[in-house]
Amino acid sequence: MNQLDLNKIRADFPILNSKINDKSLIYFDNAATTQKPQIMIDTVVNYYTNENSNTHSQHFLAEQITFKVDQTRQQILDFVKADKKIYSVVFTKNATEAINLVASSISKLLQKPSKIVLTTAEHHANLLPWQRLAKENNHDLEFIQILEDGNWDLKNIETLLDTPTKLVALNWVSNVLGVINPIQKIVDICNQNQVYSIIDATQAVPHLELDLDKVKPDFLAFSGHKIFGPTGIGVLIAKTELLDKMAAYQVGGEMVFSSSLLESTYQTGYQKFEAGTPNLAGIVGLSTSLKYLADLKSSFDIYFFEKQLYQKLRTNLKRINDLKLIADTDNKIPLISFYHPKINDYDLGVFLDLAGVATRSGRHCAEPLHTILGINSSTRASLAFYNTASEIDNFCNYLEQAISKLK
Ligand code: PMP
Repeated sequence: MNQLDLNKIRADFPILNSKINDKSLIYFDNAATTQKPQIMIDTVVNYYTNENSNTHSQHFLAEQITFKVDQTRQQILDFVKADKKIYSVVFTKNATEAINLVASSISKLLQKPSKIVLTTAEHHANLLPWQRLAKENNHDLEFIQILEDGNWDLKNIETLLDTPTKLVALNWVSNVLGVINPIQKIVDICNQNQVYSIIDATQAVPHLELDLDKVKPDFLAFSGHKIFGPTGIGVLIAKTELLDKMAAYQVGGEMVFSSSLLESTYQTGYQKFEAGTPNLAGIVGLSTSLKYLADLKSSFDIYFFEKQLYQKLRTNLKRINDLKLIADTDNKIPLISFYHPKINDYDLGVFLDLAGVATRSGRHCAEPLHTILGINSSTRASLAFYNTASEIDNFCNYLEQAISKLK
């Protein structure tokens, strides 16, 4: 990628031109949320300005938005290469809601007690719903452990997934470790043994090329705002036959098939899980961000470019004395969490902010992982395709200055 092309891409994201504390913004907090291309912002403004309507009324505007919502479902399935005969899209408000939906609604399909397998590196969004389900139904929770370099310890995986395992819920990429996990291997075992699989792909979709027809999980969840789309819109991709067997999540308008004062029957498939008016502006915005990304990928190898960013960031950070990198391994998205034994991460975050650098300090909604690592918190630099090598140099210089001031 030459600088001219990269400048062109960066120009699509107006916020990247901002000054923060009189310094050029270096936005390295993409795992928290990604920035938005102007074309996506314009789509949302245009929707409210010229297209606003609810779905399913009998007029032009309503038919237009109804069509766009259906089209976006198909677009999402294409985006992750999911067979439309097997999978459906349920719109949620975010990945957290998508996972909660499955945890609430799948309960009746799990024999009691069963075993649910997670990793020790799940985001709270993919831990707490299963903790609650396990407590309420007497299920056991067991965990794939994380090796020193951030990879999963799969030594005893066949035993861990042995009966009575009924469900696994795993991150494709952890928001702290950034390692690209061997999801295919685990889902293959699940599919051979009638174990339900739910994949938290929140940090995977902005960086990887997904192929659900190959991987074949039962469920996959992600958030629109982490894939250059708006906040307030999330996606659950689910096997339609399972949606039909699961209990409704919320009840009310749109999901009802027929209702009397004392009884109601429900729709099937995704419709059963979308009670009430959906986030229509969010859906059209997400559609534009996915199109933007697909168009960009046709002329730009994002995966290769981000690999280069990752290796440069890794090399530069490793040169800094006493800085400890978490999950120092090759197979990662451009994300590194790190800590300095003598420095408080919040102080570091504030110092970096004064230099215009946006990172995140804390436990990143993965407190158990930090406890296992024996640290209170960490600082995370998470990059996207619009970040540059010179931003990495500047960031590392500011980081060194911060460390020499704070230690
Ligand atoms: N899973 C992972 C791996 C995440 O990084 C996040 C957000 N940090 C979530 C789930 C939850 O996403 P949201 O807050 O958009 O629901």
